[in-house]
Amino acid sequence: MISEFLAFAEGPLLWIVFILFATGLILRTVFFVLSILRAHPSLERRSTFNARPLLAVRLLLPFHNAFLKKPLYSLLRYGFHVCLFVVPIWLAGHVSLWEESRFEWYWTPLPDSWADALTLFVLAACSYFLVRRISVGINRKNASIKDYLFIVLTALPFLTGYIYTHGSLDHIPFFETYMWYFHMLSAEAMLLMIVFLFLRIRLTADRCTGCAACEINCPTGTLEAADIHQQRVFRYSHYQCIACGTCVGVCPEDAAELRHEINFAHLYRVFAKRRIRSVELSTCESCGALIAPQPQMQKLQDVAVANEIESEMLNCCSRCKKIAAQKSHLFPQSWQLPVDRQPQDSRPVK
Ligand code: SF4
Ligand code: SF4
Repeated sequence: MISEFLAFAEGPLLWIVFILFATGLILRTVFFVLSILRAHPSLERRSTFNARPLLAVRLLLPFHNAFLKKPLYSLLRYGFHVCLFVVPIWLAGHVSLWEESRFEWYWTPLPDSWADALTLFVLAACSYFLVRRISVGINRKNASIKDYLFIVLTALPFLTGYIYTHGSLDHIPFFETYMWYFHMLSAEAMLLMIVFLFLRIRLTADRCTGCAACEINCPTGTLEAADIHQQRVFRYSHYQCIACGTCVGVCPEDAAELRHEINFAHLYRVFAKRRIRSVELSTCESCGALIAPQPQMQKLQDVAVANEIESEMLNCCSRCKKIAAQKSHLFPQSWQLPVDRQPQDSRPVK
């Protein structure tokens, strides 16, 4: 039974996975282009947006707008992603498999020493990402089981491949027999995972004040914020995001993060935008008008208290503040509105 499954795994299953992988990548590319084209009317309103290097930004450039916030970490991530791509394609063992296949394809492989070094780099980076996720409080709090699974699934084909080619565990008969199959099955799982792996922005609830700076600066308009029923609702489409990092770079609270997410349903959610965060809005204590997100007001309140600043009117809208200031003659006479332009609605000011 096991031998039949293993024969299936290294024969038909491998081809099925390759076909699903190629189809998935083609579909994702088509959906990406379609969603960007559909978003185009909103893009034209954004003077900073340049549509032409879209693919380049998404696929090639390492130094997006969040680079300066964490330069070393950005470099590590970029090197890691390059190795994820280079090692499986240019590994001598993989090239010889393609040469022996019915396609008889051949390209110059990497020297073995290079392949080993890059594989060890990938494993070290995966270990670092795992330790960082477990040990850094904010990362641990925001991580789900999928985040850990994603790192483990990424590392497994490299780990099993390295052990298999070096015979590191060949002194244990079980691993000597089955390590090749572990490597193949983990590689198949990783290829399928890539099809359903999406990048998404996360607005960390603990830090995000709902200021919407990320939404205002998002060049593709994929991030949207709307004030609905006393809530500021943020919505996002993964296909329209070009991973430029602008949202991460401009966030004053370090609350915006670009994270990987494995989700099967995302593949066909081409135009739909998902709600990713909601923030309560504060209302004016005097007239009830919406003023600003509650976390932002709380921060202002904290600053006022810490600096012993008079904050009696802090929770009032600018209109009510102006009326109160005029009533109390805080403004010079020349600043005050002429009588015929003064607000008619003199609601009581607390
Ligand atoms: S810029 Fe930062 S704090 Fe402001 S809404 Fe976006 S994530 Fe939240
Ligand atoms: S959501 Fe962030 S990373 Fe994506 S396009 Fe907008 S600014 Fe760039």
